[in-house]
Amino acid sequence: LIPAIKVKNLSLYYNTQKILEGVSMDIYQDKVTAIIGPSGCGKSTFIKSLNRMNELEADVQVEGKVEFYNQNIYERRVNLNRLRRQVSMVLPKPNLFPMSVYDNVAYGVKILGWRPKVELDQIVESAIKDADLWDEVKNKLHKSALELSGGQQQRLCIARALAVKPKIILMDEPCFGLDPIAATKVEGLIQSLRLRSELTMVIISHNLQQVTRISDFTAFFSTNEHRIGQMVEFGLTKK
Ligand code: ADP
Ligand code: ADP
Repeated sequence: LIPAIKVKNLSLYYNTQKILEGVSMDIYQDKVTAIIGPSGCGKSTFIKSLNRMNELEADVQVEGKVEFYNQNIYERRVNLNRLRRQVSMVLPKPNLFPMSVYDNVAYGVKILGWRPKVELDQIVESAIKDADLWDEVKNKLHKSALELSGGQQQRLCIARALAVKPKIILMDEPCFGLDPIAATKVEGLIQSLRLRSELTMVIISHNLQQVTRISDFTAFFSTNEHRIGQMVEFGLTKK
């Protein structure tokens, strides 16, 4: 097992209010780590601390370390745009841009640098295929992404995340609000991504049965008597 991220005694404050206290765990390369725990205990806060996305929302202070391949991401010289591309995030509700299906997936790739159109087409197609969505959208590539169903939009968000070839994908309740069939498709997609090498995933889920189906490791978060989130147990999902 190779740790992709090592979280060492992490405490986190939002606007001086302590949200996480003393969290330590490893996130292993090419494995799926599930995060579970009661709502409000700090699961979202924790996964957003892994690519510093919570700094887009609030004033954040941290104690302790988060090492991404041995570099502490809270050091001053860290390039946040680069970090957030390598550790990419999928949110509970699809947050697609009001653009075409194609442009949503191409967006992040274009920011990385100019490419010939044939190459971009190929990247977009393979990301959409990897997200198990190609047959459903191949005739809608130039239609607005917002016309897709909720489940298709969520898989398109995953395609968009995959297109920039991240090392890690963080998913905050990826099946949130989806009907059972759409949720099953998203779970199936997570399963197929899990079988690919070179992709590490951290997934928040409320569904214990789903956690046993999709994850290799589970971290249980809880709140202490001061209602501060902390991790109580971390280990293999199936012992
Ligand atoms: P969970 O994902 O387990 O439901 P969250 O990480 O969303 O928990 O929330 C943990 C705590 O942090 C809650 O008390 C919540 O109110 C607080 N919190 C979340 N986001 C922010 C924010 N942007 N600014 C201030 N407090 C926040
Ligand atoms: P850049 O122009 O360098 O990509 P941005 O401010 O657009 O800078 O975003 C920096 C990184 O953070 C990008 O890689 C982007 O994918 C990621 N990012 C920003 N917001 C989100 C979000 N809501 N969900 C997922 N990733 C995001």
